[in-house]
Parts: sequence; structure tokens; C-alpha cells
Amino acid sequence: MSAGPAAPEGAPLIIAIDGPAAAGKGTLARRLAAHLGLPYLDTGLLYRATGRLVLDTGADPRDPAAAEAAALALAPADLDRPGLRTPEAALAASAVAAVPAVRAALLAFQRNFGRQRGAVLDGRDIGTVVFPDAQVKLFITASPEARARRRWLELQAAGTAVDLAQVEAETRQRDAQDAARAVAPMKPAPDAVLLDTTALDAEAVFAAALAQLRARQG
Ligand code: C5P
Repeated sequence: MSAGPAAPEGAPLIIAIDGPAAAGKGTLARRLAAHLGLPYLDTGLLYRATGRLVLDTGADPRDPAAAEAAALALAPADLDRPGLRTPEAALAASAVAAVPAVRAALLAFQRNFGRQRGAVLDGRDIGTVVFPDAQVKLFITASPEARARRRWLELQAAGTAVDLAQVEAETRQRDAQDAARAVAPMKPAPDAVLLDTTALDAEAVFAAALAQLRARQG
């Protein structure tokens, strides 16, 4: 794991974990946070909850005005509501996430969260935009087929019956949208360490991340 632009001396530890959908970011981030005693923020949840709010009003998540209004109205309880993990919420999240005013509205919350006691955050732009001076940056990937299969298994376990081919098509569509948008596109920070989890289980990913962290801390 390599260093970002130097974080100020004594700044709390920020670990930025970015990458495409279902690459294993959340599992790794939660585990690292528990291991290190750091708060954890799933930043995708902010975009999912925003997208869900837009859907509630019957508006199109791609409508910039509706998406901005939803982001500004976001309350903590919105992050706890059911239905944020569905494919519908994921696509709505990806649509609102392309609206610059939405990203601006959610930026301060993410930075405040991390600055208090340090944090592990996962998302798409943590190492590039939210915390470009994070001490530790990882970009987690896996093949599209492996990621779709993982997401499909998660959805099945949650009782959502969906077709594997449909999950793969939606995952590819979302990744393409996230990588192509003009504002804060999904991409590895130049100083991020890339970790391909296609052939790794959660245990091996955690071990690889810890090894990087130890190397970083000398
Ligand atoms: O991580 P998750 O799959 O829950 O994210 C849902 C969507 O939210 C992503 O596809 C992406 O469009 C958006 N997102 C983002 N920036 C982040 C986190 C999520 O644009 N930091």
C-alpha cells in the first residue's frame, strides 16, 4: 500500500478502498475497520439512499434537480431503511452519482466522518477526491464474471430471486457509467495499490491488505 500526498503530521488514519461493484470492498473495509478499531463508512449507501429518495418521489434519478434535492434532504434514518441493496437502488445510485451537485452535497459528510477519529471508507472516489491525502489507498478489482456471481449469491441469500445474466449485465452497465462520468469517475488513484480478488477468498484479501498496511507502517 503506498502513501498518498503526505497527510498532515498526526492526522487520523484514513484507509481508502475503491473499486467496481462487488469486488469485495465492503467485506474488506468492515474487517479492516474492526481489526484496527476505526469507524467504517460505506459511502455507496449515501448514493443508494439518495437514489431511493428520488424513486420515492416518482422522479427520474437522472434528473439533476430531483437528485440534488434528495441529496440535500438526506437524513441519517434514510441509511437504515430496507431496500437499499436491491439492483433497482444500485442503478438509481449510479444515476444520481453522476450529478455534480449530488457529489458536492455528500462530500462534506464523508470528510467530517473521516476527520473525527480516522476511518476506513469504501466507494469509488475515496482515494482520488474525498481523501486524496489518505495514508493508505487500495483499489480492489475482480473479473466482471466473478463480481456478478458474488452479487448474485448475495441477492439470493437476501431472498431476491434474480437471473445471473441480468446481474452481470447490470453490474457492467453500472461500472461503465461510474467509470465514464465527468465528475469523480471511478478510477484508481495514481498512488493506490491494486488488488485483484478474482481468485482470492475474503480471508486471503484481508491477509493481503494487512500485509500492505504493515509494510506501509514499517
Ligand atoms: O458501492 P455501491 O455498489 O453500494 O455503490 C452504489 C453506487 O453509488 C455506485 O455504482 C456508484 O455509482 C455510486 N458511488 C459513487 N461514489 C462512491 C460510492 C458509490 O459514485 N464513493
